[in-house]
Amino acid sequence: MNRHDVVIVGAGAAGLNAALLLGRARRKVAVIDAGEPRNAPAEHMHGFLSRDGLPPAELLELGRAEIARYGVRLVRSRVERIDHGFTVRLADGQVLDARRILVATGLRDELPAIPGIRERWGRDVLHCPYCHGYEVRDRPLAVLGTHPGAVHQALLLRQWSDDVLFLRHALDLAPEDRERLECHGVRVVEGTIARLAVEDDRLRGVELADGRAIPRAAVFVFPRMVPHDELLTGLGCARDEGGWAVTDRTGRTSVPGVWAAGNVVDPRAQVVTAAGMGSAAAIAVNGDLVEEDVRRSAERHALGGESR
Ligand SMILES: Cc1cc2nc3c(=O)[nH]c(=O)nc-3n(C[C@H](O)[C@H](O)[C@H](O)COP(=O)(O)OP(=O)(O)OC[C@H]3O[C@@H](n4cnc5c(N)ncnc54)[C@H](O)[C@@H]3O)c2cc1C
Repeated sequence: MNRHDVVIVGAGAAGLNAALLLGRARRKVAVIDAGEPRNAPAEHMHGFLSRDGLPPAELLELGRAEIARYGVRLVRSRVERIDHGFTVRLADGQVLDARRILVATGLRDELPAIPGIRERWGRDVLHCPYCHGYEVRDRPLAVLGTHPGAVHQALLLRQWSDDVLFLRHALDLAPEDRERLECHGVRVVEGTIARLAVEDDRLRGVELADGRAIPRAAVFVFPRMVPHDELLTGLGCARDEGGWAVTDRTGRTSVPGVWAAGNVVDPRAQVVTAAGMGSAAAIAVNGDLVEEDVRRSAERHALGGESR
C-alpha cells in the first residue's frame, strides 16, 4: 500500500501539476503537503492564463480536485526526511516507499524587520510588479532600500506608475545606481525607515525615523528568498555557487531518481512557470520509470529464455 512510483513533496502549483500528469500516466503517486503555499497572503493571483485574478487558494483547490480524479493520494503532513531507496518519513509517523522523488517545496520570503511589513505582506506590501503592479498602477509607490535587488525593482515599477520613490534606508547605493534611478524618474529619499503607517486596515505611507511621513498607496520590498531545500540537501543534491540545487531543464537533480520543480530551485518561477516545471519534471520522471520497467522486462525475458 505504501509503495509508490512517485512521491511528490509539496502541493503548490509545481507539485500539483506534476501529480496531474503522473496520475494521468497511471502512476501510483502520493503528494505530501504541509499546506503553506508561498502566495497564501495574497487575495488574488495574476498572470496565469485563464485564471487571472483567482484567489490563490482556489487554484490549489481546483488542482486537488483534478488530481483526485486520477487516483493520486494527497497526504496533509510534512516530510521530515527522505532516505535513499527511497523511504519517505512524515512528521505524523507515516512511512512511504517510492521509486522516484519529486521535491516541489517552494521557498520562504524573509522580510526586513520593519514594523508593519509582515502584517501588510501580500496586501499593500508587495514584491512582484508582474503579480500586483497593475493593481497599483498610477498610484504613489515606494521601494524600500533593504536589499540590492530593490534598485532593479524600482526601475521596473516605473512601467506602472510615474510616482515611484526609492527610500534608501540603509542600502549602500552605488553612484551609478543613484544616477540610473534619477534618470528614470525615481526620486531617491534619504533617511531611516521607522515603520509603515497603517490605518483602518490600509497602508497610508511610511514614517521615517526623523518624523517625516511619506504618504504612499503601496510599498515594494525585495525579500531574501530562501529555498525549502532541506530534503534535497539531505539527499546530497549538488548546488550552484548561489546555493540553489542544480537541475537540468527537466528538473533532474544530480542524484539519480530525484527531481525538483518550482520555487525550490528557481526563485523567479511564477505560478504558471512553477506549474510548467512540474509538468516537465513529471514527463521526465515517467520516462525514467518506463526505461526502468523496460530494463526489468528485458531481464525477465532473458531469464525466461535461459530456462527454456
Ligand atoms: C505575496 C505573494 C504574492 C504572489 N502573487 C503571485 C501572482 O499573483 N502570480 C504569480 O504567478 N505568482 C505569484 N507569487 C509567486 C508564487 O507564490 C509562486 O510562483 C508559487 O507559489 C510557486 O509554486 P511552488 O509550487 O513552487 O511553491 P508553493 O506554492 O510555495 O508550494 C510549496 C508547497 O510545499 C509545501 N512544503 C514545503 N516543505 C514541505 C515538506 N517538507 N513537506 C511537505 N510539504 C512541504 C508547502 O507547505 C507548500 O504548500 C506570489 C508570491 C508571494 C509571496
